[in-house]
Amino acid sequence: MQRQITIVGAGIAGLCAAIACAEEGADVRLLEAHEHLGGRGRSTDGPYKANLGPHAMYDDGDFWAWMRERKILPQSCNPRLTAARMRINGQIRRMPPVDVVPGVLRLRGREAPVDVDFRTWAGRQAGERVAEMLSRAAGVFTFHHDPGELSADFLWSRTVRLLLTIPSIVRYPVSGWSTLIGALESRVRELGVIVETGSPVDALPDPPVIIATELHQARKLLGDETLSWSSGNTLCLDIGLTHRRGDPSVVSDLDEAGWIGRYSATNPSIAPDGQELIQAQMPIRPGESPDQAALRLERFMDAAVTDWRARERFRRRQVMDGRSGALDMPGSSWRDRPAIDRGEGIYLAGDMVAAPGMLAEVAWASGVEAARLALAAAGAPRLARAA
Ligand SMILES: Cc1cc2nc3c(=O)[nH]c(=O)nc-3n(C[C@H](O)[C@H](O)[C@H](O)COP(=O)(O)OP(=O)(O)OC[C@H]3O[C@@H](n4cnc5c(N)ncnc54)[C@H](O)[C@@H]3O)c2cc1C
Repeated sequence: MQRQITIVGAGIAGLCAAIACAEEGADVRLLEAHEHLGGRGRSTDGPYKANLGPHAMYDDGDFWAWMRERKILPQSCNPRLTAARMRINGQIRRMPPVDVVPGVLRLRGREAPVDVDFRTWAGRQAGERVAEMLSRAAGVFTFHHDPGELSADFLWSRTVRLLLTIPSIVRYPVSGWSTLIGALESRVRELGVIVETGSPVDALPDPPVIIATELHQARKLLGDETLSWSSGNTLCLDIGLTHRRGDPSVVSDLDEAGWIGRYSATNPSIAPDGQELIQAQMPIRPGESPDQAALRLERFMDAAVTDWRARERFRRRQVMDGRSGALDMPGSSWRDRPAIDRGEGIYLAGDMVAAPGMLAEVAWASGVEAARLALAAAGAPRLARAA
C-alpha cells in the first residue's frame, strides 16, 4: 500500500515537489508555516508588487521547460536593456571601457576550474582589471561582497549564462513572482494535494517526508548541525517613486557589486500608474552593519537615479542574510552541498542543497529529485523507473 508523502515548506521547492509527487498519483500533504504559499517567491500585496526575493526566470533552463510542459508558465517579459547603465570608478556610463572588451572575449568559450577562485583564474587569462570588473558585475546574482573569491567554475558559468548570452535568457513574470506562485498553487490544488497553511512544523513528520524549508530551518528540524553552506548577505531596498523620463532601467555596479533594477520599466503592472518600482541591492561587507551598507546603496542611487529622494513614495528595506541561494567556494561544486537523500525516508529540497541550476532553479531541481526518491519510498515507483 502506498504511504502518504509529507512535504514541509511551500516555497518553489515544496510546491514543485508536491506537483511531482501528486502527478504520479501519490497521496500528498503539504505543510506551510506562513498563511500564504510561495516562501521567498511571494510578492507584496497592494499597489507595489515588490518581490520578497527573486525577479528573474531563465528561459533556457529545465525549470522553465518543466513549467511550459505543464502549461503553467506565467506571462513574462524580457528586460529592457536600452536604458542600461553601469557605475565604474564612481561614474555612471552607458558602455564598458573599450580596453576591457578583448579580455572578456578572450575568456568566452573557456571552461573555468572548480578548485581556483574566479579572480585568480580570470586574472591569469585576461588581466586583473577584467577579472575585477567581471567579479563585481556578478554581484547581481551572487549577492556577495566579493564574488571574485568564489569558485571560478561557479562564477564563470553563471556569468556567461546570465550576462554574456544574447539574446538574454532573463524573463520577468508579469505582475511579479506571485503570478508564478499562483500558477504552481493552482496546479497543486488541481491535483488534490492536502494543503495546510499557518502550520509551522516543529517535529519531524513520519517518512517519507521532504523538508523543503530554508537550510537553517532544516538544520533545526533535523537536529543536524552539518546542514550549512555559503550564501550571500545583502541589503535590499524596494523604492516606489514618481516617473521621470530618462531613468535607467538597470544599473550594474562595477565598483561595489551592487545593482539597481527599475523593474517597472519592462513590467509596468508592478507599480501604480505614473510611478516606478526600483529594487536595489548592496552586498553587506564582513563586519559592516546593514545601516552602513544602506548608506552605500543610497550613494549609488544618488549617482545613478536623478532626484530619486524627492520622488520617493514607497520604501521597503530587507536584509537577506543566507537567503539568496548557494554559493560554491573554490574546491566545491553543487555536488558537495548537503545531499537530498538523508536516509530513512527523509529528503531535503531547497536552493542550498546538492542540485544543479541557478538560484530558484536549484529549489526546483532538488524538489523534483526529492519527489522521485520519496515516491519510491512511498511505494509509487513509476516516476523512479521513468527517471
Ligand atoms: C534578494 C533575493 C533575490 C533573488 N533573486 C532571484 C532571481 O532573480 N531568480 C531566481 O531564480 N532566484 C532568486 N532568488 C532565490 C529564490 O528566491 C530562492 O531560490 C527560492 O525562492 C527558494 O525557494 P525554496 O522553496 O527553496 O525556499 P523558500 O521560498 O524559503 O520556502 C521555504 C518555505 O518553508 C516554509 N517553512 C519554513 N520552516 C517551516 C516549518 N517549520 N514548517 C512549515 N513550513 C516552514 C517557509 O515559510 C517557506 O514558505 C533570490 C533570493 C533573494 C533573497
